[in-house]
Amino acid sequence: MKAVRVVGYHENLRMDDVEKPELKGPLDVIVKIGAAGVCRTDLHILEGQWEEKAQVKLPYCIGHENAGWVDQVGEGVKHLKKGDKVILHPLMTCGLCRACRFGDDVHCEDSSFPGINVDGGYAEYLRTSARSVIKLDDSLEPADVAALADAGLTAYHVVAKAAPKLRPGNFCVIIGAGGLGHIGIQYEAVSGATTIVVDRNPEALALAKKIGADHTVLAKDDDSFVKEVLDITKGKAAEAVIDFVAEGGSTKTGVKMLRRNGDYYIVGYGEDLQIPTIDIISTEINFIGNLVGSYNDLAELMELAAQGKVNLHTQQYKLDDFQKAIDDLTNGKVRGRAILVP
Ligand SMILES: [Zn+2]
Ligand SMILES: [Zn+2]
Repeated sequence: MKAVRVVGYHENLRMDDVEKPELKGPLDVIVKIGAAGVCRTDLHILEGQWEEKAQVKLPYCIGHENAGWVDQVGEGVKHLKKGDKVILHPLMTCGLCRACRFGDDVHCEDSSFPGINVDGGYAEYLRTSARSVIKLDDSLEPADVAALADAGLTAYHVVAKAAPKLRPGNFCVIIGAGGLGHIGIQYEAVSGATTIVVDRNPEALALAKKIGADHTVLAKDDDSFVKEVLDITKGKAAEAVIDFVAEGGSTKTGVKMLRRNGDYYIVGYGEDLQIPTIDIISTEINFIGNLVGSYNDLAELMELAAQGKVNLHTQQYKLDDFQKAIDDLTNGKVRGRAILVP
């Protein structure tokens, strides 16, 4: 089968002809990929940012936002059959550890992450486990929802954390209206807080406005836009900042938009957080990390998707055109989320 693989860090991906994955355990599921989202994490993998954490042996196939159809199931899997339309929770979890028993899939003590540390979905088939599979409503197609497996899930997870602390009259700054940001804006719009979306791209801001942002502010290289944001908050700054970028200096400017005792949610990544510790203690601001979400978060998202309540903007590419998708994402040419379709 075709598989797009990482052959070396700081090198381009390569399309290889590889063996189709086989069932290894009784709870394994082989999925025929219908669509795979292209994530900024895929760029970060190629930059070598995950090399030490993932400890994955090269070459391997990336792609962690996957949906498709069940192709084969292990002998222990009774609730799925060939042809079922499914989306995959990005982690394969053990189900036995205490984190799993709390439903906290992300912190499973014995998990793997297809596309990060085992073979992922930039391919025709993928192996996962039954615990990661969510059946799709008849009205949904894999290509419509694949990007919700991570981009949507992570955005849902972070907003679910931020929303209970936000009240009408509060402000939430969202940095980045791209793949995750444009989904986060839609959830945040229902929290009651006033949302201020900051992005470098006027087209991304136009999309943000259309899907529920109360205010949009164009980010520029100088920090003048920070004042624009502060003016919207009547000089008080925001109770929450959700940073979907965290690259190119966004955390340094983002912190300037955060109020005393505010929460800074880091979702995007790439740069080092550099902030004097005296600023943290004297204002009691909090920095909060976010990694995907739970199986149940994704199941809830699929309910919302089936009810037409999440609006995912996608740009489709054929799997063969993976390099164009990567290049477009690198060059800021993707509105919403890029997805690969075999
Ligand atoms: Zn991702
Ligand atoms: Zn576990």
